[in-house]
Amino acid sequence: MSDNSLRVVWVYPDLLSTYGDQGNVLVVERRARQRGLDVARLDVRSDQPIPTSGDIYLIGGGEDRPQRLAAERLRRDGHLYQAVQNGAIVFSVCAGYQILGHEFINDLGQREPGLGLLDVTSTRGEGERCVGDVLADIDPRLGLPPLTGFENHQGVTHLGPTARPLAQTRIGKGNGTGDGTEGAYNDTVFGTYMHGPVLARNPQIADLLLKLALDVNALPPTDDRWYEALRDERIASAQQPA
Ligand code: GLN
Repeated sequence: MSDNSLRVVWVYPDLLSTYGDQGNVLVVERRARQRGLDVARLDVRSDQPIPTSGDIYLIGGGEDRPQRLAAERLRRDGHLYQAVQNGAIVFSVCAGYQILGHEFINDLGQREPGLGLLDVTSTRGEGERCVGDVLADIDPRLGLPPLTGFENHQGVTHLGPTARPLAQTRIGKGNGTGDGTEGAYNDTVFGTYMHGPVLARNPQIADLLLKLALDVNALPPTDDRWYEALRDERIASAQQPA
């Protein structure tokens, strides 16, 4: 952490914010401030350079064309890769998740290189688009309550040997590979198909990102009764027959 303030970078809100992704930034900011931390939030548009000194980078979802443009600009910029080499934490959703992998299929039907920050590769699903509620048990190694979210994607994401599934779905398609995996992560880079915004629905993930960025095992507790009530409501609603 530089200057005693946590630097939270929101990557390309002009291209990758189709699904209320600003909510993820607001939740990270708020939960950091509740723990007495100063937060410097940087919204970086796609015509601006990505700073390399951020602590947490957030990348949202988007439609196929903005996703291609974002991938092109992030590759050209190169700084996100450098930030991860410096130890930064990255959290990505849907289009952002696919961009962090090795490649995905773009809006022109072509293989588009990603940033290779996560050992995943996305293809275009042959079946119906994956749309609907998701309820998933997070990797037990992370020791967190179940996740809820909403997915909306055509891409299917295959994990390589150095990516761990973030969660296992009870409801929903997740990575779309038929094995129930949802999202992926390594030590510092995370990806999920869950919108919501996902950190508003699952603040335990925001806290995980904060702990990693601060290099601490625990954070002061917060009053999470509202979040817990929301989670219970979403779990009950996801389990209702369609
Ligand atoms: N365009 C990608 C897909 O359909 C990502 C969509 C999204 O971000 N919701 O797979």
